[in-house]
Amino acid sequence: MNMMLVACGDTALLVDAGVMFPEPELFGVDLVIPDVAALDMYKGRIAALILTHGHEDHIGAVPYVLPHVTGPVYGSPFTLTMVTPKLDEHGVDYDGRLIAVAPRQRIEVGPFTIEFLRVTHSIPDAMALAIHTPQGVIIHTGDFKIDQTPLDGQRFDLHRLAELGAQGVLALFGDSTNADNPGFTGSDRDVIPGFEEVFSSARGKIIVASFSTSIYRMQVLVDLADQFDRKVAFVGRGMVRNSETAARLGVLRLPPGIQIADSDIRDYPAQDVLCLCTGSQGEPMAALPRIAIDDHRYVKVDDEDVVVFSARAIPGNEKAIGRVMNHLAKRGAEIITDGMKHVHVSGHGSAEELKLVLSLVQPRFFVPIHGEYRQLAQHARLARAVCPATKVQMLEDGDVLRFDADGARVVDRVQTGRILVDGTRMGEVGDEILRDRRHLAGDGLVVAVVAINGQTGELARAPELIARGIATDPRQDELLREAPGLLEAALATVPRDERTDPGLVKERIRLEVQRMFRKRANRRPLVLPVVLEM
Ligand SMILES: [Zn+2]
Ligand SMILES: [Zn+2]
Repeated sequence: MNMMLVACGDTALLVDAGVMFPEPELFGVDLVIPDVAALDMYKGRIAALILTHGHEDHIGAVPYVLPHVTGPVYGSPFTLTMVTPKLDEHGVDYDGRLIAVAPRQRIEVGPFTIEFLRVTHSIPDAMALAIHTPQGVIIHTGDFKIDQTPLDGQRFDLHRLAELGAQGVLALFGDSTNADNPGFTGSDRDVIPGFEEVFSSARGKIIVASFSTSIYRMQVLVDLADQFDRKVAFVGRGMVRNSETAARLGVLRLPPGIQIADSDIRDYPAQDVLCLCTGSQGEPMAALPRIAIDDHRYVKVDDEDVVVFSARAIPGNEKAIGRVMNHLAKRGAEIITDGMKHVHVSGHGSAEELKLVLSLVQPRFFVPIHGEYRQLAQHARLARAVCPATKVQMLEDGDVLRFDADGARVVDRVQTGRILVDGTRMGEVGDEILRDRRHLAGDGLVVAVVAINGQTGELARAPELIARGIATDPRQDELLREAPGLLEAALATVPRDERTDPGLVKERIRLEVQRMFRKRANRRPLVLPVVLEM
């Protein structure tokens, strides 16, 4: 949920507007976006939204944030093409508001001049920002690593970073994601030898799951497929869409004739096919998890096939990924993970890269951003070692840091938080829904089926209770045995008019069953009444 607001006088600008993927305890919540209530304080003054790169954690909330912005959205062409489908999906009008910018370009927004600097990351066209303000220059790194041999030949603009450092930088805001990794992260090319081994030994299909935004990983695999005479099929919505976008913008080079549709895979011998799939995190609706349970229309796994997980497991997803692997193993596929061969490299710089940036910039103030608190703390430690004269400022979400003639200090804290979004539409999940889901997870579900004569309101037969996810303990077992009788007795006392009204009788059943479980077993299962009219 990356988002930073910079304000000076009457002008404010936003850097990034990201989403977060929900933790497993947020049942059925699809997206978590930043609570933008604090932006109301800046109503009418937010003159621009500036995007550093096209990852979800930096652009996913743009449709929700854009209505708070009066001016344009700036980003690299690739970043903007990642944003437009989201705006279209949400029906947000952005006509003429998306402005593509190039590295080293400068734009002016009120008292600010914003300069874009190319960085290397796991997605093309990622940029850092040098924001020139009346108080001095602020550098925001965005996400980065220092890839000395980038696949697209577009180098990190260390020269300009050093120049800015030499001229004097007020504050550096730096990506801390991999601060606790020693050494260097390495280049996206580092996975080539590992994949070469896979390509030279695989006798069936090669199926690789990775993030659909990992265009460089796609490039490595497409080039190897070309070299080893395999056709390439992109499988899964995100893979298909992003490969098309990247090829159209020239950031993904596809040799002519190499690409086939997933529906044509079965027309080729298995050893001539490479599939690039979504689903590296075990997401139930994505391509690889469907393939693993033999529920994909076109792609089947056979026992000569090799499946490579070419992505980091986002914490919390390990179990889902493990289940996908088990299904694949049952179908006889060979599974390769990053632990077995070097088939994944991170997009975030490790300690030595962070230290290099710190020593080039030598800022007066340093603010570690992006990462868990322990990683921010580690980045702070690196900064103290590299530039002892720099003052490190630790911030938490919502902190307002003021720079003035006296230096920098936290002066306020604004409301921050998360908004939980259910589905792709803006449907906020309120406390009530989340409470239902918590009951469902904690106390299970009881379905009460009651057949009623529509004329007389008499029960046509004894009620049935179907329980799911209810712990077996003596109290609940006893209750489940007695509940149909208790419910029948309770309904017998209800007036006929209520019993013949399906809506009213449903609510009555729900209340009665809930009460029984609360009183006798101290449980609050979700009760779902089903009324059959006979
Ligand atoms: Zn990123
Ligand atoms: Zn990020």
